[in-house]
This record gives sequence, C-alpha cells and structure tokens, in this order.
Amino acid sequence: MPSNSTPHQAICEQCNKPFVHFQSLTRGQRFCGYHCAMVYRVAHWFPKHTPEALFWRRVNKDGPIIRPELGPCWIWTGATDAKGYGAFYDRRIKRRATASRISYEFEHGPIPGGIDICHHCDNPPCVRPAHLFTGTESDNAIDSRRKNRHSKLTVEQVKKIRELRKSGMKAIEIARLYGVSDASVCFACNGRTWWYIE
Ligand SMILES: [Zn+2]
Ligand SMILES: [Zn+2]
Repeated sequence: MPSNSTPHQAICEQCNKPFVHFQSLTRGQRFCGYHCAMVYRVAHWFPKHTPEALFWRRVNKDGPIIRPELGPCWIWTGATDAKGYGAFYDRRIKRRATASRISYEFEHGPIPGGIDICHHCDNPPCVRPAHLFTGTESDNAIDSRRKNRHSKLTVEQVKKIRELRKSGMKAIEIARLYGVSDASVCFACNGRTWWYIE
C-alpha cells in the first residue's frame, strides 16, 4: 500500500465539519465531499448564482406596509401557488418550496418537517424574515397546550376561528377578537395546536 493511504483528519472549509481523507498531508483535501466543494466554488466564483442570490433577486423589498410597526413587506415577484404563496425551485433539495419557508431557512436554518410558516403581516407572498415565524416553543409548552391545560380558547372558539380564517379574515383581526396572539390563531389554523379537532 502507498504511504498516502493513512487517514488524515481535516476540517471542511464549507461546512466546518471534521472529516477523514486519505490524501497525503502536503496535498491535503479542503472539502468533506463533492457537494461542499461545489457549494464553495459557486459561492466564490459565481457569487450571483448562490441559492440566496437567485432567491433575493426575485424579491421586491418595497412592498406594502400592512402593519406600520413591521415596516414594508418584501414581496416575492416570482411564481406563486394557488394560495398566493411564493414558489421557488430549491436546487438544494431539487423540489419546489414555499418562498417564505426558504427565506426563513436562510435566516434561521432548516425547519423541522411539517411545520408551516406563519406571517405576522398576513400577506402570503411576503418573504421578509422579520415578518415570518414558526412555532419555536419548547416541547413542554406544546405538550401542555395539546393537553389543553393553558389554552385560553375553547373547542368551539377554535372551530369558529378556523371558519373565520377560511372566509378570509386576517389572523391579527381574529386575534384581537378573541384576545389571543396572532401566533395562537396561526397555530390553531395550521393544526400545530388543536390538531385533534376536525
Ligand atoms: Zn463539508
Ligand atoms: Zn410582510
């Protein structure tokens, strides 16, 4: 066996994770694999072609101001789906994804599957990270809410809230009506809480 078959530890310059390679120490290896090497190359040689750059190129940051305290919405100008949410072809996962979800992930990292993005501004095509939120409560909080211990809402109210939301009423208006946060309304409607109610 040649001498360069001994394993060497190195840190990937793209993902910063340690990896083992079998090249000589002098030649070294900079990336943990082909994927990281390509991501690094695109970012450094073609900065206009990174997923982030391709994404933000299609965003108009001078959108409508729906709640003054939030500032203008950043509107997705690319394709939208039937519900008005932005649609972005994500090359990293090779499928279409909701633009607001992608934006949120650029800012905060991957979202666990199945959790919907909610908009503080109630404006589906908006992708401004400050206007987006998910359930970031601790598991305990979710559990206790599931067991209905701390919820301010009754089953009947949740059903009514879902009806109002479907009829087009804004989450923030419903929240004021019932004296709860817009997050509670969003979670009740997307099934994050009260998932057991039809
Ligand atoms: Zn890597
Ligand atoms: Zn917005």
